[in-house]
Amino acid sequence: MSTVVDVVIIGGGLVGGLTALLLAEGGVQATVLDAAPVLDAAQTLAVANPRVLALSQATIHLLKTVKVWDKLARQMPYSGMQVWNKNGYGDINFGQVSVHTPSDQQALGSMVEPSVLNLAIQEKMLEQLHDYRTNVQVTRVEQGIDVWHIHLADGTQLSTKLVIGADGANSFVREQAFIALDVLDYKQAGLTCAIRTAQPHQHVARQIFLETGPLALLPMASLEPEQDGYWQSIVWTLPDDYAEEYAALDDAAFTALLTRESQHMLGEVLQATPRAQFPLKARAAQQYVKAGLALIGDAAHVIHPLAGQGVNIGCLDAAILCDVLLHDRKRGVWAHEQTLQRYEHRRKGQNDAMMHSMSAIGWLETTSLFPVVWARNFGLKQVQQRPALKDAFMSQANGLHLLKDTCYAV
Ligand SMILES: Cc1cc2nc3c(=O)[nH]c(=O)nc-3n(C[C@H](O)[C@H](O)[C@H](O)COP(=O)(O)OP(=O)(O)OC[C@H]3O[C@@H](n4cnc5c(N)ncnc54)[C@H](O)[C@@H]3O)c2cc1C
Repeated sequence: MSTVVDVVIIGGGLVGGLTALLLAEGGVQATVLDAAPVLDAAQTLAVANPRVLALSQATIHLLKTVKVWDKLARQMPYSGMQVWNKNGYGDINFGQVSVHTPSDQQALGSMVEPSVLNLAIQEKMLEQLHDYRTNVQVTRVEQGIDVWHIHLADGTQLSTKLVIGADGANSFVREQAFIALDVLDYKQAGLTCAIRTAQPHQHVARQIFLETGPLALLPMASLEPEQDGYWQSIVWTLPDDYAEEYAALDDAAFTALLTRESQHMLGEVLQATPRAQFPLKARAAQQYVKAGLALIGDAAHVIHPLAGQGVNIGCLDAAILCDVLLHDRKRGVWAHEQTLQRYEHRRKGQNDAMMHSMSAIGWLETTSLFPVVWARNFGLKQVQQRPALKDAFMSQANGLHLLKDTCYAV
């Protein structure tokens, strides 16, 4: 008979890793199983990712809580957002331009490469957790009586009172638990790479709406100190055939195209890294929980990447799940069905609403600069002219209000 552990987290990525660390802060040691290997720090940091994650203030606060934030090898805070239409109707600005690195108070959030964040979370898990296993292949997850059994390819079997599925968009846990998934195919592709421009970004995230689709330029940290302030990650939403065509261009043709399409906003595009493409699909699990099992992060929901919120809503899942678990544990209850239902109740409606607002038709809905989505509902011009309204949208976007009634409140 194997012993029954309190919690096994399958998937030790950004969201699973944060969950394990929040639980450890609360005195609960989780077993973490991840299919990926431990990252090599030197190799990981030697290359720039083609894309960045726009971390909200709530996510930054949670990463500080588990002491991962100070471990980030690089990140790029941003203090302003600028969105405009190529054809000249409608434009909006939030925050401010910063010549120097914005302070924590000035920053709206920060752009971090996923691999740099993964590396920091892995390092912290290695320090903090007693049972963190990498290169693990989970072959079966089955429900017993008041317990879940997890079978690994090496013949090991684990039994647990709670399985947390944090294994990403193609979640094996979700499949094994027979939780149905709704999928919406946008029939578009995202084209992404890092670029260097002639003029500095001044810590402003930009998005321009072109006939082909929105093009976002997101400030990112540079590998070369003397080029700091000039590198950005682009995310360009395109019909599939355009994405194919643009991805196949050589560097000179691609940078010339970007210079034109960005209307020389930051001067000439001088350099571009190899392009990556990804299909745009939204996915929503029909349930987040079952008895003794919870889904979090991309395993539960994948929203349009242009919302720039995927990891942020995943981190909020982690915070709310840990909050309800740790709260009930103080009363001697662990992972009861009602505890898990409270997690689903607090997260699913909100996540679904965000997903639907991203799926509506029109350019403002697909902006990666999230406050603009709210601004749209009030009318762009009205918002642009009313600083108080803009402040209200910004405070919605930072996510901190969603932590208000939790043990992670700021
Ligand atoms: C192009 C693009 C741009 C994006 N931009 C943004 C952005 O600006 N801001 C933002 O917030 N979000 C963005 N996102 C979304 C964000 O990347 C995801 O929401 C986030 O990575 C989800 O984290 P996760 O931990 O749930 O899943 P993942 O990061 O996918 O981690 C899953 C983990 O589970 C492990 N795993 C998988 N299968 C198994 C298995 N069977 N057994 C054990 N382990 C397993 C994997 O090794 C991995 O470590 C973007 C996504 C894309 C594609």
